[in-house]
Formats: sequence, C-alpha cells, structure tokens
Amino acid sequence: MNPSTQIDWDSLGFNYFPTRSMYRMDTDESRQWQKGELVPFGDISLSPAAGVLNYGQGAFEGTKAFRSAQDRVVLFRPDKNAERMSLSAKRLVMPDIPKATFIHAVESVVKDNGDYVPPYRKGSLYIRPVLWGTGPVLGVRPAPYYTFVVFVTPVGPYFKSGVKPLKLKMTRNFHRAAPHGTGNAKAIGNYAASLYPLKLAKEAGFDEVLYLHAAQESLLEEVGSANVFIIKDEVVKTPKLSGSILPGVTRDSAIRIAKDILNLDVRETDITIEDLVTADEAFCTGTAVVVTPIGEVTVEEKAHTIAEGGEGEITRQLRKHITGIQKEERSDPFGWIYALN
Ligand SMILES: *Cc1c(COP(=O)(O)O)cnc(C)c1O
Repeated sequence: MNPSTQIDWDSLGFNYFPTRSMYRMDTDESRQWQKGELVPFGDISLSPAAGVLNYGQGAFEGTKAFRSAQDRVVLFRPDKNAERMSLSAKRLVMPDIPKATFIHAVESVVKDNGDYVPPYRKGSLYIRPVLWGTGPVLGVRPAPYYTFVVFVTPVGPYFKSGVKPLKLKMTRNFHRAAPHGTGNAKAIGNYAASLYPLKLAKEAGFDEVLYLHAAQESLLEEVGSANVFIIKDEVVKTPKLSGSILPGVTRDSAIRIAKDILNLDVRETDITIEDLVTADEAFCTGTAVVVTPIGEVTVEEKAHTIAEGGEGEITRQLRKHITGIQKEERSDPFGWIYALN
C-alpha cells in the first residue's frame, strides 16, 4: 500500500512526516564527493565522534516544491539555495556541493516522492538539504569526511484560515548572531542557540523573537528564522546584509517584486526600533512564513500595534505576488520557477 494515499491533506501542519526516499551523497576521506543516490528514507548511523555531533559542523537549507495551478510540480529559485549552501559550506570548512549536483539531488528526491506533494493549494513539499561532517574528530578540526542528505516532508499552508499577523517580542537579553560570526550562514548551531529565547517568548504569549544588532542595539536585525521589513510612506525598508543577517531567498524575492513590479522605493539600510514602531506596515519573509504581517511588537514591556494589528495593503500585495508566482497563478517575469515535469 502506498502510504502517501493515506494522508489527510487538510490536517497537515509544519511537522516532520516520513516519506519514501531521500538523497544521500558522501565524500571519501579526501573530501571528494562520491556518486550520490536515492535511498529509503530512514535513520542513519554515525560515529559518536562525528564532527557534526561534537562541534556542530553542519549547515542546512530549506525550500519548497508546489503543485501549481498548471498542474505541474515546481521548485522556487533552487539555484539560490545552492549558492547559499556553498557559502555556508565555505564558512564551516565543509566541501562545496556543485550547484548542478545540489539541484539534481533536490529534483530527484521531489520526483521520487511526487505523490507526497500536496494537491494545489493544500500546502507544499518542504525540502531540507543538510550537509555535515560525518568523520570522527577529537581535537577541534574539520571532519575527515562528509555527508549530504536531501529529505522531503509534506507541510500545510502557513495560514489555513486567513492571515494572522504575528506578535513579536523584541529582546535585549539575547543576540542571534554576532558581527563576523556565523549569522549569514545557515549553520546548524545558530538554531540551537535560538531555542531558549524562543521558548521564553512563546511562554509569554509571543509568536517569535525580534533580534537586534549585537553591536548596535538600536538597530533591528531579523526574526528567529525570517527576515524583517518595514514600510513607511510607501518606502520599503529592510536591514542591510551586514554579515550577521541570513540572506533570505524570500527577502530577495520581496525586494525585487517591490522594486520591479510594484515600482516602490526599496532601501536596504539601517532600521531603528523607533522606525519599526512608527511604521505603516511591517512583515517577515521566509520560506516557511512566505510574507507574514507583523501586527504587534513589544519593546521593553510596551506593546506597539502596527497596521492596526492587521495586514497592510503593500504587505498583502507582496504576499499575493510571491505566492502567485510560486503556484503559477501569475506570470513569472523573473524566471524563478523550475518545473519538474
Ligand atoms: C532560513 C532563514 C531565513 C529565511 O530565508 P529564506 O531563504 O527566505 O527561507 C531568514 N532568517 C534566518 C535566520 C533563516 O535561517
């Protein structure tokens, strides 16, 4: 029996769900990639001395496949994820994965798990490439060999019953990333460090943490796993990529749509807390959240409402354009869609 036929597509959230197969590729002991292949989705075995387990030598990516309005299975800008994986690999002294290999791996897993791609408008197939140091180490040094895995899992739409603006907690007690640290890499260790601030924020009733720049605490940086934008008098602003911000694919897409389709003034610049609390609109971008409005931000125990706690018009337009391109409901003027069949 095919397990994917048992899925209740309407009940999907953002949780791990096992699928048929994953792609696996390993290096030899001189860091050279061997031929990769599809293997049954399942557990892997590792030495307790693996570099990834002891020193966190690993990086990941995240992207999605959609069943589109044209009834095709499509990827959204997978080349950008390949490029970012290369940057993360370099920062963590891991072997580079050629762009064509990365895209081939993603493509083969999605095709082999095609029946797990949710029907049009029921969600997407979340794609998780991960690269880590498999070989044993004792002293702090790069692992002798590496593994690259791509697995997929079906996820529901971020908002099932209408858009719900986020409530953020600005924190001065924690920083996400330091200048000249690993903030611009999707390094696995960055996310372990974000769990505690996120736990505290959730316990206090917030959706996410808003981090400030570690060296200049008057400036916004980003939300735990999404980039942040503000709009004031039709000018769109997002923190400039200073080295500690993750360069989001959705961030880049929102900038290009705002500039080239909506003809707005877009600035990658410094944004202060004051700019945020007095903004007309604010939103977050990321593969999981796509474009999600920020309805409220709490700064030193004081809650500030943005866009009357709802979704502003420009935010809505940006969200409609990105989701429309992703699902082939709109034309694709930038050539972002990568069709698989
Ligand atoms: C992945 C991620 C984002 C969003 O990047 P996308 O490519 O748009 O998914 C933003 N911030 C952080 C810290 C992230 O890890």
